[in-house]
Amino acid sequence: MAEKKKISIVGAGIGGMSAAISCAANGYDVTVFEKNDKVGGKLNVLTAEGFSFDLGPSILTLPHIFERLFAMHDRKLGDYVDTVALDTHWRNFFEDGTVLDLYADSEKTAAHLESKFAGAGNEYRLFVEYSKRQYEIVAKKYFNDGLDTFGSFFTSYGWPELFFKLDLFRTMNASVSRFFTDQQLRDVFNYFIKYVGSSAYNAPGFMNLMPWVQIGFGLWYVKGGMYNMARGMARLMEEVGVTVHCDSEVTEIMHERGRVTGVVLKDGTRHVAEAVISNMEVIPAYEKLIGESGGFMRKLEKFEPACSGIVLHLGLDTVYPQLAHHNFVYSNDQRHHFDLVFNQRKLPTDPTIYLVAPTRTDPAQAPEGCDNLKLLPHIPFIDKNNPVSSEEYEALAERTIDKLEAVGLKEIRKHIVVRDFWTPVDIQSRYYSNKGSIYGVVSDRKKNFALKAPKKSTRYAGLYFVGGSVNPGAGMPMVCLCGQNAAKLVARDLK
Ligand SMILES: Cc1cc2nc3c(=O)[nH]c(=O)nc-3n(C[C@H](O)[C@H](O)[C@H](O)COP(=O)(O)OP(=O)(O)OC[C@H]3O[C@@H](n4cnc5c(N)ncnc54)[C@H](O)[C@@H]3O)c2cc1C
Repeated sequence: MAEKKKISIVGAGIGGMSAAISCAANGYDVTVFEKNDKVGGKLNVLTAEGFSFDLGPSILTLPHIFERLFAMHDRKLGDYVDTVALDTHWRNFFEDGTVLDLYADSEKTAAHLESKFAGAGNEYRLFVEYSKRQYEIVAKKYFNDGLDTFGSFFTSYGWPELFFKLDLFRTMNASVSRFFTDQQLRDVFNYFIKYVGSSAYNAPGFMNLMPWVQIGFGLWYVKGGMYNMARGMARLMEEVGVTVHCDSEVTEIMHERGRVTGVVLKDGTRHVAEAVISNMEVIPAYEKLIGESGGFMRKLEKFEPACSGIVLHLGLDTVYPQLAHHNFVYSNDQRHHFDLVFNQRKLPTDPTIYLVAPTRTDPAQAPEGCDNLKLLPHIPFIDKNNPVSSEEYEALAERTIDKLEAVGLKEIRKHIVVRDFWTPVDIQSRYYSNKGSIYGVVSDRKKNFALKAPKKSTRYAGLYFVGGSVNPGAGMPMVCLCGQNAAKLVARDLK
């Protein structure tokens, strides 16, 4: 029997693991090299004094994309990972005391919004129909066929659908504002852009597909903590014969006459392979693993990093019963917040904050009578022209807590028993993401029309990329889909 062709994968984030599982299903000999001591990448966990903090993603959407990975090996996701659908999706707090809930049941949401603002129920229904239409257009080709270039958009969609049905030329905010009259509702639906760490005032209108992702397919939690998804994928990799080496940083992608030939590890070990799939983001991988510079790298500048964040994990010796599992606390001027973070690249003075309280669904995430909170305001990626000191990051963390107090979470500081704090510098050094980006490449109408870098290298044969910096972009389901689509390209090229 002919020897199986070898594939090396750089990094065991969700993108890398998805690619590994998909390539194994196609009969290749797959080895994954991960620099950290465990798999998962940004899907990560910290336990301390009875608290278990999900360090990265806290919302799972589109679980059927993960289901496919297990199905390709005749297995079921449910036998590995216990997913729970949430009834209350988002609880939204404003400093004037307004609280708005979004539910799994659209009619329940419509009735709730109507009770707050006359006419909002119908505005919401119309917006949901529009969001669904945008999702369906984007999903059928861009997601499912794995499109990577403007050219492939034109040939796959045809210009009538592209120019008249896809919301291409307005901004996300401009379209949200056509549906909703009230500014608070505009703020809430604009903040769906948080899933890709961009600005609703810069992203194209079709990014309004994101509410439908939640409404149409549910918002999910992974029982026992989100990291159990990484554990489930690790178990599947082991069962299907993928070799995983942790504590194994790749320092070079070898190539000869324009074709990659394998990888070199930090300890000097060389691993020959017919194809290399990098879960390290495109720009750092070309720079650090291949040593590219000059014109080629300048062409990649349009793939600017998405935002970063400060992430504060707090273990509290009390419970704030007013919180749902997923909460948002809004800036009093969200346009200014987006402008500071994405245009001026400065720390927000009055941030919009994502606040997660997982014990609402999973009490085991904190000791009894305690709360486990994650606070995440989005902030600029690391920009050498706008340096930020660690004192300034700390001051923002304090402003973030002050803002929670302003919406009624009183005396938080008095109740802190565990505190863990991440800045963009930590995110960059832990995962080697581009300038500390959390969500790969920014979705920006003017910079890239929300298109990310291609999955297949335009420079080296046998080199592919997966993860948030390539299409279709960041977020757990998208990088999982990316791994599956990249594996199809590898199989087509290697035959
Ligand atoms: C705080 C936070 C909150 C988030 N919230 C959500 C959410 O609620 N829902 C959601 O869907 N998404 C969320 N995301 C985004 C989501 O986590 C990411 O889009 C996704 O996990 C990225 O996966 P990836 O495979 O692209 O890359 P990564 O997770 O970054 O994985 C890349 C891996 O490659 C490894 N690596 C890099 N370079 C090398 C090298 N040279 N050698 C060996 N290994 C290397 C890294 O160590 C890492 O393990 C959040 C992210 C963060 C940080």
